[in-house]
Amino acid sequence: METRVQTVAAVAHALAASVSALTPRHVRVSRVAPAPPFSASVPEPGTDVFTTVLRLTEAGPGGSDVDASADAPPADPRSIAVSFVVDDAPVTVFADGDARRWEVARQLASALADEVHELPPPAWAQPFPPCPGHRHPMELAEGGWRCPRAPGPIIAPIALDRP
Ligand SMILES: [Zn+2]
Repeated sequence: METRVQTVAAVAHALAASVSALTPRHVRVSRVAPAPPFSASVPEPGTDVFTTVLRLTEAGPGGSDVDASADAPPADPRSIAVSFVVDDAPVTVFADGDARRWEVARQLASALADEVHELPPPAWAQPFPPCPGHRHPMELAEGGWRCPRAPGPIIAPIALDRP
């Protein structure tokens, strides 16, 4: 039986090949692995994770010899981390390894588009992948990419279903 990591890796590679063909960006998969505990993730301002890191830092020397990771919530065992490299920029996103393949693809595509949107130019603020003839990004539907304005036929299919 296929493991969660294998499932997500298969989807991630198909997605990377697809967006590389549809955008000026070169996208490849560098690593697929179970998500690390939250303490090992990059903290985002405003989240509990950031607050935890800040509090432990402020404890100062001798304030605490407790391992910060002991305080961190464990990773969701279903959560799989996928590290992409977009041109030269590392981008890590997460997917639910128990989800169906097309749902995993949707999660990865959505998170990847958000991250690429924040990269420096020329990727910055560019639709990812761009809809032919429009300024918006295409959306991922079951079967591949399509225009979100008048959802119709799949413009760029992705081979994701098992043979
Ligand atoms: Zn469109």
